[in-house]
Amino acid sequence: MKKIIIAIDGPAASGKSSTAKLVAEKLGYLHIDTGAMYRAMALKVLRHNVSPENSAAIALLAQQTSVRLISNSRGVQKVKVELDGKEVSEEIRSPKVTNIVSPVSTVPEVRALMVKEQRAMGSEGGIVLEGRDIGTVVFPKAELKIFMLADARERSRRRQKELGEKNVSISVDELEKEILERDRIDSQRSVSPLRKAEDAIELDTTHLSIEEQVEFIVKKAKEIIQ
Ligand code: C5P
Repeated sequence: MKKIIIAIDGPAASGKSSTAKLVAEKLGYLHIDTGAMYRAMALKVLRHNVSPENSAAIALLAQQTSVRLISNSRGVQKVKVELDGKEVSEEIRSPKVTNIVSPVSTVPEVRALMVKEQRAMGSEGGIVLEGRDIGTVVFPKAELKIFMLADARERSRRRQKELGEKNVSISVDELEKEILERDRIDSQRSVSPLRKAEDAIELDTTHLSIEEQVEFIVKKAKEIIQ
């Protein structure tokens, strides 16, 4: 059976990760959370006490960095994120990392490194990648492109719930501010800004359940596969 590439892009906390993971499980595909890769790079920047605005130092640091996503198998999987050979899956979700990941992701050398890795992982198809530039830059020929959107307040509420489950307590107002600031930097950067590919299908999830989002994408994918 034909194995396609599914690209899911969209702003922060629009539900891309949980949706992409379930779509991948249903199709027996690999799930690549590209945001996790940029977060790992941001963690390295923090650990080295480099300013997130110091592009030259970050570019240099990127050359001495290895970021890998490891999944056990296609289908049901637990993805691990490794930074220089050590697992950082939990650490990359901390608010400290979240606060600096967007400026770090504007550095062209960082993007070049990540995009190369993502293309290598996706070269054989059978993959769901989610991020900001998948349908526009990483795989512009992906067979199925989805651009996920949701109202900023709703995204903030969802993120608060998610963090609450990990005992991290942040107000919805504060989260909304952080989410909108990340969207602003991600959309305005000169290299690979967040934008909808012309041939992407827009999916507004404000009033949709996860199950409905997954069903929508899986149905579209099956139409293409068949
Ligand atoms: O998807 P997530 O919110 O975890 O991504 C964290 C950050 O990584 C984004 O705000 C963005 O700055 C960066 N990113 C990116 N390109 C991608 C995926 C994520 O620049 N493909």
